[in-house]
Amino acid sequence: MDRVGLGFDSHRFTPGRPLVLGGVPIDHDAGLAGHSDGDAVLHAVTDAILGALAAGDIGEHFPDSDPQWAGVDSSRFVEHAVKLAAGRGLIVGNCDVTVLAERPKLGPHKQRMRERIAALLGVDASAVSVKAKTGEGMGFVGAGEGLAALAVVSLREA
Ligand code: MG
Repeated sequence: MDRVGLGFDSHRFTPGRPLVLGGVPIDHDAGLAGHSDGDAVLHAVTDAILGALAAGDIGEHFPDSDPQWAGVDSSRFVEHAVKLAAGRGLIVGNCDVTVLAERPKLGPHKQRMRERIAALLGVDASAVSVKAKTGEGMGFVGAGEGLAALAVVSLREA
């Protein structure tokens, strides 16, 4: 039987850090604060997989009190969640992501993000969707304080 999970994450912009979204380095004047590389997209994808497994959340699996996750490539978190799923005989069916960001414009990066996320999930890029929205000037996204990401992932029997 298929299972579905939802993930959400948000991070604050901070100067002097590289911006990485969906596992893709993006040229910008600020990166995202966070214990890891701050990749809110991969954190949302990880939480969506964990949610589909009813296996807790990313903070339980990778506590930010643990120095081994400082500055780590968030791809590791997705790979961990995919392995957990595989241990239960489940593989990813599809993944749908929405990124909320006023800046930078993500249109030119969406395809690379799709391909990177698909590779991490072990699926074809046709099973991954990356959409980008602004906050229309409203709230923390609109003010450019940070960005947010939502992800839905389905899992099915291998
Ligand atoms: Mg996060």
